[in-house]
Amino acid sequence: MTQKKGRVFSGARPTGRQHLGNYLGAMKNYVALQAEYECIYCIVDLHALTTLETTFELRQNTYEMALDWLAVGIRPEESIVFVQSHVPQVTELHTILSMVTPLGKLTDLPTFKEKVRSQPNNVNYGLVGYPVLMTADIVLYKAGLVPVGVDQAPHIEFARETVRSFNHRYQTTALIEPEMKVTEVPKVLGIDGQQKMGKSLDNHIELAATDQETTQRVMSMVTDPQRMRRSDPGRPEVCNVFTMHKVFSLAEEVSMIDTECRRAGIGCVDCKKRFAANLNAHLSSFRARRAELDQTPDAVWDVLYDGARRARQLAEATMEEVRAAIGLAPMQR
Ligand code: SF4
Repeated sequence: MTQKKGRVFSGARPTGRQHLGNYLGAMKNYVALQAEYECIYCIVDLHALTTLETTFELRQNTYEMALDWLAVGIRPEESIVFVQSHVPQVTELHTILSMVTPLGKLTDLPTFKEKVRSQPNNVNYGLVGYPVLMTADIVLYKAGLVPVGVDQAPHIEFARETVRSFNHRYQTTALIEPEMKVTEVPKVLGIDGQQKMGKSLDNHIELAATDQETTQRVMSMVTDPQRMRRSDPGRPEVCNVFTMHKVFSLAEEVSMIDTECRRAGIGCVDCKKRFAANLNAHLSSFRARRAELDQTPDAVWDVLYDGARRARQLAEATMEEVRAAIGLAPMQR
């Protein structure tokens, strides 16, 4: 890695093909951060086990997600891209950090309570320790910065407190407290115009979809619910199609739609067709690159294996300090 402003870590669960919400909420930022920071991007497959009912698609989802990350512009020659379970040191650090974490602190976390509500039949041990594993993810690589939305601030504060507890207990500076790098994470609504875009709600638009599939999805997007007829004036400020136009269309077109929608000069069908065309144009080079990468799956896995190799080097250096600070017996003479 070249000398940059600092080291960033971010992880995401292997959810397979990514959608517009993933793109606007994380992937775009991942790409941009590479200009100024050493970036470590991790597909956190172990975290996924806390909630998955089956793991049949885990490997394929990992691959599909890696394809999307690489096609969008994450550069493995610069950044480390890898799969969490390929660096076993993270589970070792998770165990060690769990010993300095009061159980009550974990069970009091709102995210844990929410999970207990959403999956009452699967309140597993890993679910309780999830924030500890997340802390291990970050501090194992001595990442100083974690890009998060403000709503995730409590997670980073938890990681900072855990690091302080460990360093204080073992009188060491082996672990560093990560800082938040607060990023604007837009709330991207699904095609229902109501809920956050997500695969589980089937209200998403996949980045890797074909032009035709994308257009079909866009044409089913909910618009201003008060605009019942073509002759009714619309309200762009409450319309999700307009919100998307602001991201993917040129300023002149956005301004035209804003004006014409309010005086019923443009219909929703035409407006959506324009958005679909602009979105497809925006994603065309991504899709071409993705298709090219998909021709050689072994090369994609090799990127992940090489990333894991580099990540393990960083991880092992940290673990040597951690083990020494605790006083664990060395593994060899
Ligand atoms: Fe939304 Fe466009 Fe229809 Fe106006 S014309 S309500 S911005 S889809």
